[in-house]
Parts: sequence; C-alpha cells; structure tokens
Amino acid sequence: MANTIAIHPAVDNGIQPTAEHFSGGTLVCHCTDKPVRVRVDAQSAHNHACGCSKCWKPAGALFSMVAVVPRDKLTVTDNAEKLAVVDPKATIQRHACSQCGVHMFGRIENRDHPFYGLDFIHTELSSEQGWSAPQFAAFVSSIIEAGADPAQMDAVRARLRALGLEPYDCLSPALMDAIATHTAKASGVLKT
Ligand SMILES: [Zn+2]
Ligand SMILES: [Zn+2]
Repeated sequence: MANTIAIHPAVDNGIQPTAEHFSGGTLVCHCTDKPVRVRVDAQSAHNHACGCSKCWKPAGALFSMVAVVPRDKLTVTDNAEKLAVVDPKATIQRHACSQCGVHMFGRIENRDHPFYGLDFIHTELSSEQGWSAPQFAAFVSSIIEAGADPAQMDAVRARLRALGLEPYDCLSPALMDAIATHTAKASGVLKT
C-alpha cells in the first residue's frame, strides 16, 4: 500500500467485523514477565479511534482505539499490584501498567459524570476476535498537540473516511447529544 498514514494497527489493514454473539475476553499488557490481565465479561460499545493526548496509543500510531464496557463487567485477574493511575486529577482515571506503560482500563469515579459506570478499554490488548468494531474517529484535531503535522490533517481525515471512520474534532454527534442530555437533565432544563 502506498498510503503511509498509520492511523492505528487495528484498522490500517482493514477493520475486523463485530462478532454477533461475542461476550468478552482478556486484556493483557505488553510485559513478557508477569503481565497484568484484565477480564472483561461483556461486548464492548462505542469503539472509536481517539486522537486526544491522554489515551494510550501503540508505538507509531496517530490514534488510540478505545471502547467502553460496564465497570461491573471488568475484573483485574493477574498482577494488579503493577497498576498505577496515570493522572489522579484526570476525569478518567487511567490505570496503567507501571512497567510497560500500557493503559489497562480507564475509570470515572465522579458519579455525576455522563459516562459514570463505564470503563474505557483498548480491545486490541485482547487476543480474542469479535469485539465491537470502531465506528468513528474522535478528537481528530488533537493529534496536532501530540506532534502530528498540521499540513497532514486533510490526508489524515481522508484516510479515516476511506476506512469508514467519520472524523470528528470532539466526540460523535450521538455521544455529544448524550452528554448534553445528561447535563440538561441535571440542571432541570430538560424534564425526565
Ligand atoms: Zn505491563
Ligand atoms: Zn482519547
């Protein structure tokens, strides 16, 4: 392929389809010795490419690939003592392996947050096939903050569209609507 834009290894050679009756798998960090293992007993949702500077990205990728699962479906099964929170002040507490640096899951502890109850995961850390396929690309402009060439952005967005990942500079309209609905209900503007 002549295309040199590496969006993410999980999509660069075509996106793997969602399996209909998929019910989860095990995320494993990159350590060869005593890897952290996280069991997820659910199919993922809202999988997407993310260009923000906080999500963990594999080496050479412009984007991370991130999805959500209910937090009660996620269990750290092995070597939990290696996990540490990357930034305790961040809205999403990213629990990363302190040895290899891979983010194993992100958790929101603020009960008033629109996404409370959902954990953020990188399904590429699992060897199981069939996780929900990425549907869009979020925070695309933010890759510039991580060092991407601004002059490359048209080509990046064209590549995302070619992959079927509509590029947005925040979240997708459906998720932005969900956040605004939560906020409007919390403030009383929108009656439930
Ligand atoms: Zn590790
Ligand atoms: Zn992100």
